[in-house]
Amino acid sequence: MKAQLLTIGDELLIGQTTNTNAAWLGRRLSALGIRVGRTVTVSDDRTPIQQELERAYADASLVICTGGLGPTHDDITRDVVGKYFDAPLVTDDDLLARVRYYYTRRGRDMPDAAPRLAQMPEGFVALENPVGAAVGLWHAADDGRLIALLPGIPEEMKAIFDASVEPRLEAQSGVGEVHHRTLVTAGIAETQLQERLGDLSDALGTDVHLAYLPSTSGVRLRLSADATETDAHARLDEVEAVLRERAGRYIIGTGDVTLEEALGNLLRTQGATIAAAESATGGLIGHRLTGVSGSSDYFLGSIVAYANLAKQEVLGVTDEALREHGAVSEAVAEQMAAGTREALGATVGISTTGIAGPTGGTEEKPVGTVWVGYADASGARARRFQFVEDRALNKELFASAALERARRGLL
Ligand code: ATP
Ligand code: MG
Repeated sequence: MKAQLLTIGDELLIGQTTNTNAAWLGRRLSALGIRVGRTVTVSDDRTPIQQELERAYADASLVICTGGLGPTHDDITRDVVGKYFDAPLVTDDDLLARVRYYYTRRGRDMPDAAPRLAQMPEGFVALENPVGAAVGLWHAADDGRLIALLPGIPEEMKAIFDASVEPRLEAQSGVGEVHHRTLVTAGIAETQLQERLGDLSDALGTDVHLAYLPSTSGVRLRLSADATETDAHARLDEVEAVLRERAGRYIIGTGDVTLEEALGNLLRTQGATIAAAESATGGLIGHRLTGVSGSSDYFLGSIVAYANLAKQEVLGVTDEALREHGAVSEAVAEQMAAGTREALGATVGISTTGIAGPTGGTEEKPVGTVWVGYADASGARARRFQFVEDRALNKELFASAALERARRGLL
């Protein structure tokens, strides 16, 4: 099944609102094996909505529109769609009662424009909205083409999709043409990963595609298999086995798993705990670890030791190390990792000390330099990495390097 998305709203075009609806729907439809061929964003104006609706409906067997379903004058989606289908807008009594109830239950007067929410183009059915006043609208044509109109507000759009659109799609035949699987890697750059994986043409064949999706915490490898040609899951298993054979130690998991979740799982399985000492990352490691629910099982704490004095007083970094090597050095990273491990009584300690930039770099230690320390019962070590010029990006990359260092250490 081929789908097109039509996201409607001036605010999306001028960048006032990020089009999260398109991203979310793209993910959900892909997960169902539906190919999203095109996404278009248009203004809240009649003509472009009409033109793009025509075009989408001519090309795709499923069209999902979001936005412009509210009661205000700029919400014209139902009008335009009604005209396109030559379906007059009729007021649905049940819907009107529902809208009235929606307002009275909240102790609010029903706005004059609200009855518009009870209007539907003839032949459409209402999709229940568990979280708002506006319902979604659904139309299944005799020729099998489907159209869903959903509100723009992300929470409402998602709730209606989950409750009423997805079940309807799952009931269709022809869904599930493409299957995806994502392998998440960490600690290796895109080009090195590609080199390591080598020539994959034999493994991939003509029915499986591989995409590299880099981010600050690692590169995701997305496999897509054409289910019409062969058994997609078996083929994905085969290709995954090849990828694991060649780059297994960089693969931290599948699907949406994050580096901090993968590390957390490992710590939990081993009954181990972790403590951090952060200079350049300023607490980001702690923030990322505590973003995972249940992290209190293994995360003891992070000491943000930014000034030299804090490194010395709290973590036991020596005067000598600071004087001889500077704060951004192997010796200091090691002492920080060992210091936090000892202070908090953790199985492992990790640390970061680096130059996030844009100022503070030297020839010897340019912006983007970071030393990542790791300490366990056998002692402390540190490794130097060289990242980029951007401060925010560097902080993410430094934190990822430290989290990945811990994961490697525990393996
Ligand atoms: P309402 O009942 O509020 O009028 P609606 O269906 O008319 O709902 P819009 O008015 O187009 O929806 O949008 C409501 C809000 O939802 C907007 O303020 C916007 O921030 C958000 N929104 C709209 N479209 C999107 C989108 N594609 N992605 C993310 N947010 C969106
Ligand atoms: Mg709008």
